[in-house]
Amino acid sequence: MKKIEGKFDEFGGKYIPETLLPLIKELEDQYFKVREDKNFQNELTELLIDYAGRPTPLYYAKNLTRKIGGAKIYLKREDLLHGGAHKINNTLGQVLLAKKMKKNRVIAETGAGQHGIATSMACRLIGLKSEIYMGNKDAIRQKANLLKMELLGSKIHLVNSGSQTLKVAINEAIRDWMKNVTNTYYLIGSAVGPHPYPTMVRDFQSVIGKEIQMQMHEKIKKNPDFVVACVGGGSNAIGSFYPLLNKNIELIGVEAGGYGLNTDKHSATLNFGSKGILHGMLTYVLQNEEGQIKNTHSISAGLDYPAVGPEHAYLMTKKLVKYETINDDEAFNAFLLLSKTEGIIPALESAHAVAHAIKIAKERRKSETIVITISGRGDKDIEIIKSKLKNVKN
Ligand SMILES: *Cc1c(COP(=O)(O)O)cnc(C)c1O
Repeated sequence: MKKIEGKFDEFGGKYIPETLLPLIKELEDQYFKVREDKNFQNELTELLIDYAGRPTPLYYAKNLTRKIGGAKIYLKREDLLHGGAHKINNTLGQVLLAKKMKKNRVIAETGAGQHGIATSMACRLIGLKSEIYMGNKDAIRQKANLLKMELLGSKIHLVNSGSQTLKVAINEAIRDWMKNVTNTYYLIGSAVGPHPYPTMVRDFQSVIGKEIQMQMHEKIKKNPDFVVACVGGGSNAIGSFYPLLNKNIELIGVEAGGYGLNTDKHSATLNFGSKGILHGMLTYVLQNEEGQIKNTHSISAGLDYPAVGPEHAYLMTKKLVKYETINDDEAFNAFLLLSKTEGIIPALESAHAVAHAIKIAKERRKSETIVITISGRGDKDIEIIKSKLKNVKN
């Protein structure tokens, strides 16, 4: 077995309190065992097919392509998965691992609630208890998702401290984990956190990129020229990119530009952050001179995070992947355009990738191809869209 020490050059690592070290070590040992275990991988593949709905289609968006009038645009439809987003790829894998590790209680953090829902689903399927940490502010913003998590049998812990958002929900989940070492598994929702999480989540999400390659070869007998995905913590993007690295494909991650890059109200961590440590990893972080974490903003809750997965920091410094930004208004317009041209309502997160792909398509020839990972569906976002539409009209 290849040795993996959990660093992407200087990025990643395990910057955690000593009490967590034995837990992380146990997780690491168990994960790299099941990674090579045929039975485990077969069981996961079966669930991804029968429960989650894989493989997802790769759809040639001919209406959108005609409208833009440049390169051909394809959509990788992760929005069609059970739960409406790519998150189930990861939660099924990690809950199976939790069962294997004989943990009967799973805890998770959630921002908008998508990861909390995907965790709840996987826990019901496999038969483990689930408890979800959620910031109070997010719970108010995302009432419907809170209700869904409760219906799916999860206990919800609302977090009232600090920003009352994802950042503090993670802090509380880690605190819980330290107190309940023996029976509890901490299920992180993106390619972030201490090693082995970024690698593990990347592995579970890599099914996206593997399918993209296979499906493009079925359709056009070659690789696409571009693959574009949005970056919050970076799990749908790393899953799309990792199997396609060094294949002469231009890979582009899209961060949230929020109100604009000349304001402080954005979440463009890779473009405007600096090296720092948050949530157990060395990565790019949005922080002030004293190292205090800044408050971020995005129209899409899923991209509203002040750090980013450490492998993206590595891929950026190695120039293997490019990272661009799209602001709230551009994402909003792309959301409307995809809905109207193709009858597909994308998540606002995914709309960032759509907006950037459209910019590329315009500049490129008809013979070139772009794949956009549609990380989720937009039903959860219609209230935000409705209020923004009102503002535009007035
Ligand atoms: C959570 C979420 C994201 C952001 O998470 P990543 O880990 O960056 O993929 C993007 N899109 C959707 C639909 C989400 O639910």
